[in-house]
Amino acid sequence: MKIENNHVVSLTYDLYVTEEGEKKHVESATTEQPLVFLYGVGMMLPKFEEHLTDLSIGDDYAFTLSAEDGYGEYDEQAIANLPKDMFGQEPLPEIGSTLPLQDNNGGSFQGRVVSIVEDAVLVDLNHPMAGHILHFNGTIQDVRPATAEELDHGHVHGDGGVHH
Ligand SMILES: [Zn+2]
Repeated sequence: MKIENNHVVSLTYDLYVTEEGEKKHVESATTEQPLVFLYGVGMMLPKFEEHLTDLSIGDDYAFTLSAEDGYGEYDEQAIANLPKDMFGQEPLPEIGSTLPLQDNNGGSFQGRVVSIVEDAVLVDLNHPMAGHILHFNGTIQDVRPATAEELDHGHVHGDGGVHH
């Protein structure tokens, strides 16, 4: 069965970025715990999905995404200034730690504390992979049509998905 829209795909991957001319391993999904997702509904990076089109179970893949096709270019302006008052009686977060934040649409994401100044905590809102060229390789483990319920919910049920 080939990968196409509204199919559930299970795959392994290794993600590498290039840093100072060297390939650095970032993360993996293994055969024991593959990445399972609904293909063609906007869950994944569009270019990531594009590179998987028409692959079948057992196929290996390898491709590279530019920063632009990945998580975007690094934006020097995307630094938020959180007033220290916001933290009330809580201890201030440490530099390098991540803070759970919400965007204007209610989506959650993480910001990384980059410095603490007199009255504010500065948080880098860039995606950790922003500005990086992404190298993916892996194997397609499984492809199956999504159920009507999965399409209705917009996510995968069962192994590797949502249990409810
Ligand atoms: Zn559901």
